[in-house]
Amino acid sequence: MRLSIVVPCYNEEAVLPETVKRLAELLERLSSQGRIDADSHALLVDDGSKDRTWTLIEECSAQSKWIRGIKLSRNRGHQNALLAGLFHADGDAMVSVDADLQDDLEAIAQMVDAHLAGMDVVYGVRRRRETDTFFKRASAEGYYKLLARMGVEIVFNHADYRLLSRRAVSALREYGESNFFLRGIIPQLGFPSATVYYDRAERFAGESKYPLSKMLAFAWQGITSFSAAPLRMITGLGLLISLGSFAISAWALWVKLFSDHAVPGWASTVVPIYLLGGVQLLCVGIIGEYLAKIYLETKQRPRYFIEKTAGEPQRPQ
Ligand code: UDP
Ligand code: MG
Repeated sequence: MRLSIVVPCYNEEAVLPETVKRLAELLERLSSQGRIDADSHALLVDDGSKDRTWTLIEECSAQSKWIRGIKLSRNRGHQNALLAGLFHADGDAMVSVDADLQDDLEAIAQMVDAHLAGMDVVYGVRRRRETDTFFKRASAEGYYKLLARMGVEIVFNHADYRLLSRRAVSALREYGESNFFLRGIIPQLGFPSATVYYDRAERFAGESKYPLSKMLAFAWQGITSFSAAPLRMITGLGLLISLGSFAISAWALWVKLFSDHAVPGWASTVVPIYLLGGVQLLCVGIIGEYLAKIYLETKQRPRYFIEKTAGEPQRPQ
């Protein structure tokens, strides 16, 4: 069984030497145990880094037979870099893992065993989340629950650390959307799957490439890619507000007709105007988000371009 380990790298010069060392050691060991073929490798995907990442990848691939690299023509984001790696790699099984050594590489051995036992998808799931801040833990938990409630099938505490068989990756190619949310798509493939638990460490070196703003955009992307629930919520909200205003009108009419004072004032006129204005804008905004999504998807633009490769065996033209 030939294993390809796909590693997206964006400005990772600080951790890359250590990552490469550990990956090569792991591959060497698994291969000497006869669990994987000798032409297995780690495929490092340079996602348009601005530092020395690509130079390092080239150097490492020249020195070690375990290391190969591809360079994307510019930064396309984590999900696209991952896809580029998965679609380019030619393993019988492919493991995707981050470059920062947060995910314990030892879990790969277990993933390989599960694959050899017939699994097409092996999810790496975090045993505990204690290395995260309270905010990250709480927001992640809330988010997974929200997705589940909106009917999105998702594996709790699983990020993009997983093994996919070649068959599963081929199935992935059938999905046409240009904005990929892998975590949501993989469970939909439906092939036999297993779970491997691991502990997640702090980032080994360098900084997170996912600031809060990118994280929020990614989270929103996950929702809009898989669920029309926000649109339905608008309908519900509209219904609720209409019923409420109907009740208020009935009450105002009743007071006018059957008592000798009218409904007093300013607040009852002005507050609903602003409230409704705000609610309407919010709803139009949500509709707009879906519209924008349709607009972006209909263009069918390519997800990435590969500019260079390193350490690859010559392929027939
Ligand atoms: N990454 C990437 N392209 C990007 C941003 C990130 O390929 O535009 C890679 C990054 O090099 C790392 C992985 O995606 O290997 C996860 O990023 P990071 O560890 O910074 O995210 P965090 O773990 O903090 O959520
Ligand atoms: Mg990380």
